[in-house]
Amino acid sequence: MPDRAVRIAIIGAGPSAFYAAAALIKQEDVEVRVDLFDRLPAPYGLVRYGVAPDHQRIKSVAALYEKTASDPRVRFFGCVEFGKHITIDNLRPLYDMVVFATGAQSDRSLGIPGEDLNGSMSATEFVAWYNGHPDYKDLNPDLSVEGVAVVGVGNVAMDVARILAKSIDELKETDIADHALEALKDSKVKNIYVLGRRGPAQAKFTNPEIKEFGKLETADPVVLASELELDPHSATTVEQNRMARQNVEILREYAERGQGDKARKVHFRFLVSPVEIHGDGKVSGIKIERNKLVSTEDGYLNAEGTGEFEELEVGMVLRSVGYKGVPVPGMPYDKRKGTIPNDHGRVLNPETGNPIPGAYVVGWAKRGPTGVIGTNKKDAEETVELLLEDVPHIRRAGVEAKAEQKLEELLEGASCKYVSFDEWQKFNELEVERGKPQNRPRVKFINIDEMRAASSGS
Ligand code: NAP
Repeated sequence: MPDRAVRIAIIGAGPSAFYAAAALIKQEDVEVRVDLFDRLPAPYGLVRYGVAPDHQRIKSVAALYEKTASDPRVRFFGCVEFGKHITIDNLRPLYDMVVFATGAQSDRSLGIPGEDLNGSMSATEFVAWYNGHPDYKDLNPDLSVEGVAVVGVGNVAMDVARILAKSIDELKETDIADHALEALKDSKVKNIYVLGRRGPAQAKFTNPEIKEFGKLETADPVVLASELELDPHSATTVEQNRMARQNVEILREYAERGQGDKARKVHFRFLVSPVEIHGDGKVSGIKIERNKLVSTEDGYLNAEGTGEFEELEVGMVLRSVGYKGVPVPGMPYDKRKGTIPNDHGRVLNPETGNPIPGAYVVGWAKRGPTGVIGTNKKDAEETVELLLEDVPHIRRAGVEAKAEQKLEELLEGASCKYVSFDEWQKFNELEVERGKPQNRPRVKFINIDEMRAASSGS
């Protein structure tokens, strides 16, 4: 067993990174030192930049991560970019093991004409914009349009449709980015079309998320009863699957309500696929095709076009058809899945099929962009268990004696003025303090310059 603590670098500081760090310090067999690196100044990844600002309860999980980060065996280094300030080669002499918790930083595209028009963007960009992600602060979505199409019926689609549908009164006491709150104040959006390519029984959203649309202050859910009719396969799904059954029940209740009298409408459409986005430089409409469900050999229900088309007048299209991983410099990449190839978290060399010694992966970079935040706990624990199994076999002589000091030198040499956890906590306190007079959980700083200026009182 080691004569010194095992040094582990975690790349990324989102939920999966924190669950991995927590699992590492919880066990007592191996003494560990864990350093988390994130390219953003703030920790917590999608908890800060993905979870909707009006879903504060989900964000309370950050308190657990804070506890982990406050453990003396764990350090956080914000504003450190993997591939720029640190690389797999310069980390190797400093760490025994590296865990990639890099998530899924891109999104899937629709592959239809007009997708690149102004006003057509991914829901993930829109989410990052309203959540104050520094890379998206200048997205400036045009909210002077009356119609918006949201493609996809997962929970991300629910988030963006709900944020667009809510009144300012419903948003003003959240931690939505100030620039988004300002822009939404002047929003002219009236009709939001949420487009599901398959039927209501196949929708990916969960019950609480679809239920929220029935209780909005200034928007009505609109559902066509004809689009809720179930084919025999879907009827069986609904019988056997509680979530699908309740989704359909909620949608049926919306269909019975009719149009309602609120100013905004959220139209949930099913069995329709976008086939073309129209516009002269800028989105002005979307052509959708009616689908029918066709069962494949393995029982999956596929959407197949019927040749019947419809036009929707929209000025913005948000595609919400799933996140996608991006290649991590120096690591293998599974293009099809958008993940780092791995066996239960041990990174694999795709040429040999063998594990790459000392390299591990957790979260969406491991399994793809599925599951809720809590899903990452079990997932990270599985990886950590394998990592700990490997400890006796790693070549420990390779790690330099003064690794901590060497890391400081490395970051300094790369002109990287990193953010420590103590420094982040000061920024955090300032954000919370700014929020108090407005009854908001916090008022977010958008970038590191703003954070440091506020912290130094300038
Ligand atoms: P998702 O749940 O996988 O939903 C993606 C949606 O896009 C599905 O409805 C899918 O339909 C549709 N789609 C895919 N390709 C399409 C295409 N070419 N044309 C039309 N539709 C297409 O993904 P997500 O919404 O991005 O969410 C990612 C994960 O984060 C999920 O696990 C989600 O539950 C989680 N999340 C949770 C919350 C929460 O708990 N409140 C909030 C946000 C996200 P098919 O089924 O037909 O493929």
